[in-house]
Amino acid sequence: MSTPMNRPLQSHLGHHRTASSSKRTIAEVQFAEETEASKKRKTMRLVQESEEVKEMKKALGNFTGICGACKVGKGVETTHTITRCPTVMSIGEGFTTYKQWRSKLRYTKHHTKICWTCHVPQCSDQLHRTFVGGQNRDSACDWPDTVGPVAYLIYQLEELRGLARTEFEMEWETLETYTEWLMSKPEAGHYSKLMDMFMWYCTSVLMSGE
Ligand SMILES: [Zn+2]
Ligand SMILES: [Zn+2]
Repeated sequence: MSTPMNRPLQSHLGHHRTASSSKRTIAEVQFAEETEASKKRKTMRLVQESEEVKEMKKALGNFTGICGACKVGKGVETTHTITRCPTVMSIGEGFTTYKQWRSKLRYTKHHTKICWTCHVPQCSDQLHRTFVGGQNRDSACDWPDTVGPVAYLIYQLEELRGLARTEFEMEWETLETYTEWLMSKPEAGHYSKLMDMFMWYCTSVLMSGE
């Protein structure tokens, strides 16, 4: 096994063939071990990330090209955009209420690289393409109206809200407190509570209904 890291070490030893210097010093051994451990950690992180990306892709895949609000709210798969969604229309003042809610989904310093339009984490371009200035969101977002509408419907539907309350051990007295919670600091290693909510729905509610 000859890596660029240990090659200089070997040639160094080659110049000093004495009994004492043929052994690596403790510092050298430690350095090599630390390098190895750091490489392993990096690989683990990448493996973990791609597993997560796979799971999120699978979850999002349930909603490709179909209205998230109607799938959650009515169990039907239709292709209209969120602005024409009858499910959203039937809640409060319709699209206005939804739009007002959506505008409160604001990311803070606790969040890293999440698309502020569709709420999908970027994951080093594995899940969401990088935004290019002036680009239309439809060309960058594969699921433009999925994560938000799903979380919105979870709160609006009493049964789902109840299940989510139990799962996340939260009360959320109002839509506002729910929204604040969605945007609050995520758990270590998580992207956002909004994404946690979406993933919980896909892996627990959606899967159990199939
Ligand atoms: Zn709809
Ligand atoms: Zn996006």
